[in-house]
Amino acid sequence: MARDTSPQCKQCRREGQKLFLKGERCLTDKCGVERRAYPPGDHGRGRQRQSEYRVQLREKQKARRYYGVLERQFRAYYEKASRQPGITGENLLRMLECRFDNVLVRLGFAASRRQARQLIRHGHWTINGRRVDIPSYQLRDGDLIAVKASSGAAQVIRDATELTGQVPAWLQADHDALTAKVLRKPERREIAAPVLEQLIVELYSK
Ligand code: SF4
Repeated sequence: MARDTSPQCKQCRREGQKLFLKGERCLTDKCGVERRAYPPGDHGRGRQRQSEYRVQLREKQKARRYYGVLERQFRAYYEKASRQPGITGENLLRMLECRFDNVLVRLGFAASRRQARQLIRHGHWTINGRRVDIPSYQLRDGDLIAVKASSGAAQVIRDATELTGQVPAWLQADHDALTAKVLRKPERREIAAPVLEQLIVELYSK
């Protein structure tokens, strides 16, 4: 399966803000953005030319990197979002937010989306009692998430819960039993991604 293996701190530095891609390290002063607050590369400290296209492109790249989605899949999300009723940008963000790997992060069961993907691919989770090993799996209202009974990753998952602030209102988590429920789809205001989705829609609809 194709995946983005480029250095994560460089991705944050390129976007000029913390995208919290590395879990606990992002909360320390070892954070790449804290240490070098300029874009990577030889010309990172030079003056960046701003154009409308560049602003839109960077917003799309930021969203892709935040959710850990490759270009082709991101484009497919956009196409699907544009066919749904409602506001395309919000539909897009809602689909990204309801990915299984992202939901594990929101629940506090993984410190980063990369860790969530690994836990999912290694078959540590079930949804409604059935093993699901697809990180992009779209969760629906009422889905029940649980760690597989024989999973050897329970301690890693418990460690991740220590980093959790608040679980969003559209989800319900039991950090002792390591189970959770999707109560409903998130509203736009409940999606904490640092993304201006309208710029992405403008980019793709050119
Ligand atoms: Fe981004 Fe985390 Fe690296 Fe900081 S430590 S630059 S937030 S991935």
